[in-house]
Amino acid sequence: MTRFFDLRPDKVVRNSFTGDFDAAPKWGLPGIKDCPGCGVTWSTWGDHYPAVDLSNLPERAEFEEPRPEPFHEFARLRELVRPLAPPGSELAPGTTFGPLVGRASGQFAPFSGLESCWMLVRRDAFDSLQAAGIRGLLGCKTELRFRQKTPPEILELQLEPRGRMHRDCLPPDLAPPCPTCGRVGLRLPEDLILGGASLPTDLDLFRLGDYGTVLIGTDRFKDAVEKGGWTGISFRELPVRS
Ligand SMILES: [Zn+2]
Repeated sequence: MTRFFDLRPDKVVRNSFTGDFDAAPKWGLPGIKDCPGCGVTWSTWGDHYPAVDLSNLPERAEFEEPRPEPFHEFARLRELVRPLAPPGSELAPGTTFGPLVGRASGQFAPFSGLESCWMLVRRDAFDSLQAAGIRGLLGCKTELRFRQKTPPEILELQLEPRGRMHRDCLPPDLAPPCPTCGRVGLRLPEDLILGGASLPTDLDLFRLGDYGTVLIGTDRFKDAVEKGGWTGISFRELPVRS
């Protein structure tokens, strides 16, 4: 029986490394301004596809500036990206694409970036997890500019949204999603429960499908990380209910 863990930054480890970065994804969908369905101006956080490359898209400049747009404009831009994104991606407003671009310095822990809901991994840790047969590892190049002479090789993992929360951890009066933009007015429940039937059986690492800031790994992932001595993640087991 697979066990699932919530992945958070390990603050103790973070304090013992000097690594730091200030970066943002290269491209993104705009947020929605005054949705005609629900009236809300909003944007998601956490849905990030570093492997989706917009550099050959003639309209790529329209994805460079984070901003809210009217729904029809958001929808037009979303259709431009859809063929480049993994099949079935929801592509909510604010979804980001491409490498993290920015400045970095210092010595990086094996894992970092989790506080921003990204998973940056050092090349040595990545190779070790790949050798251990961790499923669904997709390492992507970053565009972090280091000042030091021998910069570490830092990859970012693409974590795709999979699985849902169990209805037992949701408020009983939760309104259905907005029929226009798909927004669900939901805070992350304090006692998160995963819906057993919704969880992927072919991946050891993913984001929660209905709450993209929650990063999840299986016991196989946890074992491989601990066996390799790769630090930077704190694991908390999540209950699963059928
Ligand atoms: Zn809406």
